[in-house]
Amino acid sequence: MHTISDWQQLLRYLWVAPITLWCLPLALLAKWTGGGYALHTGVLEIWGGWVGRWLARGIPFLGAVNAITVGHCVAGVSPQHLRNSRVHERVHVEQFERWGCLFPFVYFIAGVRAQQRGGSFYWDNPYEIEARARAAATRDC
Ligand SMILES: [Zn+2]
Repeated sequence: MHTISDWQQLLRYLWVAPITLWCLPLALLAKWTGGGYALHTGVLEIWGGWVGRWLARGIPFLGAVNAITVGHCVAGVSPQHLRNSRVHERVHVEQFERWGCLFPFVYFIAGVRAQQRGGSFYWDNPYEIEARARAAATRDC
């Protein structure tokens, strides 16, 4: 397995930090409204409360989701939802580490291009296809 140095990981956190910082208030919002947050394998996981209800109700372009990755934060409906989607969401963390602050734009453009080809913004988005494929490969192990 490929391992990276602490310095490389620090650079990845800094590279993505402008995006990650936007999500930090969600941790407090979730905590204050009945949910919670915790660090898991270097990622801040946020669940429940208003944040969980908001994700379950639906967000623009994606609709109702179990979890969503924003930089090094993953927000989920519940701890169970986070556990079930952890491999998938960690692929999105890697995609954020690859693209940095550009990733939301790259993801959005990929979704729009998928729609222009007659597909779904979400299901035919190449970044979702990668995440689903790698999560499925892990389950087969
Ligand atoms: Zn996804």
